[in-house]
Amino acid sequence: MFFNRKGMEDKPEEVLLNMEVYACNSCNGWMRKDFATEDLKCPLCGNETSMEMRELPQINN
Ligand SMILES: [Zn+2]
Repeated sequence: MFFNRKGMEDKPEEVLLNMEVYACNSCNGWMRKDFATEDLKCPLCGNETSMEMRELPQINN
């Protein structure tokens, strides 16, 4: 497991939470754990994903 810190948002008014996401090994696709596909494959290209932590804006739904 490794940490990937690229793509940090710069929106100081939003609350950022450290979220588990599944990031694709082949393309830029990723998904939040809460919305991950059943088989944890990339929703864009179908390849394997790796879990990592990202700071993401809190969502309210
Ligand atoms: Zn992909």
